[in-house]
Amino acid sequence: MELEDNALFNAGTGSVLTTAGTVEMDASIMVMKRGPAGEVRVSAGAAAAVSRVKNPVTLARAIMEKTPHVMLAASGAHRFARRAGIALCRSEELITAGARQRWRARQLQPGDRNSIPAMHGTVGAVAIDSSGNIAAGTSTGGVPGKIPGRIGDSAIIGAGTFVSARGGASATGSGEAIILVALCREAVAALSEQSPSTAARHTIATLLGPHQAEGGIVIVDHKARIGFAHNAAAMQVATFDSTDLRHFWVAPLAGTHS
Ligand code: ASP
Repeated sequence: MELEDNALFNAGTGSVLTTAGTVEMDASIMVMKRGPAGEVRVSAGAAAAVSRVKNPVTLARAIMEKTPHVMLAASGAHRFARRAGIALCRSEELITAGARQRWRARQLQPGDRNSIPAMHGTVGAVAIDSSGNIAAGTSTGGVPGKIPGRIGDSAIIGAGTFVSARGGASATGSGEAIILVALCREAVAALSEQSPSTAARHTIATLLGPHQAEGGIVIVDHKARIGFAHNAAAMQVATFDSTDLRHFWVAPLAGTHS
């Protein structure tokens, strides 16, 4: 939530704008918990194309916890938010001066304004607790210059967010390619044979590379091992456990699209 509130990130306040100059945010969350007999229970929630909540990931969580559905979009999601006690805001409150300025600059750009540029800033998190429960969440304003109504991978379970008994993953990057290859689901499936670092590097290189698509992924497996990789210009990662908080820039994978 704090990162959604921080205008430096493309999520919540400070989200990028659509071609129409509006905010439409996507977020999702997925959780794996062990039942009393050790059985695996997964649940998920997603909010798509929402423009009137400050913290779309909180809405995604409420959808997971309080409805029989996985995803709600746009006006229906707003109505549900109000019923769930999540305050609605004016969408203009989410638009920062910087986002408006970048949108104006883009409007003045010659050429095909519908092409998807390489600019990201999505927020993603994966966590495991001492009981082995795993959660992953992702929140974004999407890609700049998107057509109103476009929903990206961050709202789609299996694409931008996924968790199973093996581990969890959250992705960022070109949403269309991430959806096409079901990136997070593939990365988590790869944990049956690979460490999180290898799975992260391998899925970015072999799944996004052929699409000439930019992206990044963070993974935590059931042993609490961490992996991350990206092929974009930059990605920042923070890790923390009960004793230590680390924050660093991650170098892009060599030899892939960047
Ligand atoms: N994956 C996000 C989307 O396509 C954008 C991003 O991660 O930068 O909506």
